[in-house]
Amino acid sequence: MSKPTPEVYERGKGMDAHNEVMRSIRSRKQKQYDPHEPTRVWIDEDNTPDGVYQSLTIILNTGGCRWARAGGCTMCGYVAESVEGGSVSHDALMDQIDACLAHERENADEASGLVKIYTSGSFLDEREASAETRRAIAETFADRERIVVESLPDFVDREKLADFTDRGLETDVAVGLETATDRVRHDCVNKYFDFEEFVAASEEADAAGAGVKAYLLMKPPFLSEREALEDMKASVRKCAEHAHTVSMNPCNVQRYTMVDELYFRGGYRPPWLWSVAEVLCDTADVDAIVVSDPVGHGSDRGPHNCGDCDDRVQRAIKDFDLRQDPTVFEQVSCDCEGAWEAVLEEETSYALPLTR
Ligand code: SF4
Ligand SMILES: [Zn+2]
Repeated sequence: MSKPTPEVYERGKGMDAHNEVMRSIRSRKQKQYDPHEPTRVWIDEDNTPDGVYQSLTIILNTGGCRWARAGGCTMCGYVAESVEGGSVSHDALMDQIDACLAHERENADEASGLVKIYTSGSFLDEREASAETRRAIAETFADRERIVVESLPDFVDREKLADFTDRGLETDVAVGLETATDRVRHDCVNKYFDFEEFVAASEEADAAGAGVKAYLLMKPPFLSEREALEDMKASVRKCAEHAHTVSMNPCNVQRYTMVDELYFRGGYRPPWLWSVAEVLCDTADVDAIVVSDPVGHGSDRGPHNCGDCDDRVQRAIKDFDLRQDPTVFEQVSCDCEGAWEAVLEEETSYALPLTR
């Protein structure tokens, strides 16, 4: 059987220019990673349809996303962390899982009820994690309550998900939809699929008795603060019809990405934390859990306000994640709200950014 290459995968998607730039930026990355070590692992708390759980989050190093090899998304630096050669053996992946279990034993008093497996790609793509690996990992975590596995919509398949649901795990697929607006997803994020494919994946997950957690990206490049804000409000509402949880995350500037190139030349500013708060407040009535986990808050390369209030607003966002109560935002205010409102009024997508 012929093997697809990134070039074949890319062909006909109409994104050749973005992909060419992304390939050239990524090729500057030199560092290599050990295939026996996970990219990252940490313990946290997560809000789920069954309540708040201690969570074990694992970023497996599988060799990276197929789409990123073709060029990939404008803000995504994850492929730069992947193993050279693009594939990791079953044994090495299981070593990574063992390292994560050891981390959990050292850092938590009890086993986490929720396990989240990301790969900076698609865990359900068998070029990243084979059926053997998928089943072995399902078996390893069969005694937990819930599991989340990350995947692009193309690879969501009821039989693959049955490996988890058949073991009694409440299972969710985490899909990086980024926005419900196809034009923004294609032209600003350079992600190839349509909203309809996300809907089809959520129906496929549903057929396996699994759910969907949609990931949205606030403020990809080329959108003004106001456009980004409105895009997220509309996207959260649209997603909530197909996903029980929406994780709306502000863009941060990762190395070896188009966003980084723009940022370096003064052409990109991550969103204000006030914008994140505004979307969470505005959409608090939707029939889904809506959360946000701003990474790098308060720094120039992450979502930020003025510097004085960033920690307070971040705390309110984390509080909202667990309680889903929009009144948490009534308790934070700062003089910089006036500057943020002026940016919303005045910033245009052809003259970005208005402030640093
Ligand atoms: S955001 Fe996801 S689909 Fe896009 S390049 Fe990164 S890992 Fe691949
Ligand atoms: Zn402030």
